[in-house]
Amino acid sequence: MDEAHSAPKVLVTGGAGYIGSHTVLELLGAGYRVMVLDNLSNSNAESLRRVAELSGKPAPLVVGDIRDQSLVRDLLAREQIQAVLHFAGLKAVGESVEQPLSYYDNNVGGTTALLECLAEAGVRAMVFSSSATVYGDPRHVPIPVDAPIAPANPYGQTKAMIEQILADLVHSDPRWAVAILRYFNPVGAHPSGRIGEDPRGIPNNLMPYVSQVAVGRLAELAVFGGDYPTLDGTGVRDYIHVVDLARGHVAALARVLARPGAFTVNLGTGRGYSVLEITRAFEGASGRQVPYRIVGRRPGDIAQCYADASLALQLLDWQAELGLEAMCADTWRWQSDNPQGYRETS
Ligand code: NAD
Ligand code: UDP
Repeated sequence: MDEAHSAPKVLVTGGAGYIGSHTVLELLGAGYRVMVLDNLSNSNAESLRRVAELSGKPAPLVVGDIRDQSLVRDLLAREQIQAVLHFAGLKAVGESVEQPLSYYDNNVGGTTALLECLAEAGVRAMVFSSSATVYGDPRHVPIPVDAPIAPANPYGQTKAMIEQILADLVHSDPRWAVAILRYFNPVGAHPSGRIGEDPRGIPNNLMPYVSQVAVGRLAELAVFGGDYPTLDGTGVRDYIHVVDLARGHVAALARVLARPGAFTVNLGTGRGYSVLEITRAFEGASGRQVPYRIVGRRPGDIAQCYADASLALQLLDWQAELGLEAMCADTWRWQSDNPQGYRETS
């Protein structure tokens, strides 16, 4: 696709965040025009300034909330939007257990408010950020996309509910085109080291925690459980490089722009790594020690989780290409170049 004015314009909700910013960069690289809507509740506008600098193209941001229907209506009336990539949402499992109402309001209420505005404006194409969390504790690994849905916490419930709302919407009006992407564990950063994951406070997730230990911001990693039925007793997950994930969105967008209907795919690599394998790989990539201590299991955690991502290859001609070494090396470049994340801008 060339730079022509006729290139499709897409709205990216939550596009200033971790996965959204990497996807905006890939979308611009693929020739799309982009408009971001983000309330900056968990992100920094600096991410999009850097995306614009990396791509040499504008990545305009409207600071606002997906629940603000008058703002969204105005935006849709002003801009010729053809599809929406919907990343905006709250994503911390523990917080969702403590504050379920804010998760249902922001994620489910926010999505229905957004969908109403899109339906009114006749924008009927969406790529939605779902999660492997919808599977809960899977009966089998690798997890196929038709495995039972059994989320174990309010965050996962919001994703399952939104999936159902989208399925009902497509059923009610077959002009809609919807892609539901269930991400496994996104990690890594753009290889430039300019954009990456910038969690507020102490990270909940493994990779940002390990990288903050390696850079000296945190003293040691607490490994949650050493007695799981896995190769070394620690939890196994399917880590996927955020650049691969972002490319999966570009592939899904092409499909929703081309044909109506709904589809759901897993986006993962199809292979799992244990906490200790991640720690060792990160030490190799960073040349730093990552001291750790094995502690009790984290409530609600499962032993292992990895994807059967074959449907994504079949439907989207997409598969993950970047391995664990790139995931760790790119995380380390981002972390060591930006030890305080976007707060230390240059
Ligand atoms: P993130 O927090 O970095 O990005 C989410 C963005 O949405 C943030 O920029 C935030 O400011 C914005 N936002 C939140 N509520 C909003 C609202 N009401 N209106 C406007 N903007 C709002 O998170 P991320 O890791 O980039 O995740 C993006 C999406 O992918 C989320 O929906 C998340 O649930 C989903 N997901 C993430 C993971 C993961 O491990 N990171 C895994 C599976 C699914
Ligand atoms: N984990 C850990 N210490 C941490 C954070 C995570 O041992 O400080 C483990 C966790 O128990 C799981 C794996 O790392 O086995 C991935 O956890 P994360 O929170 O990143 O993803 P999720 O559990 O949501 O898949």
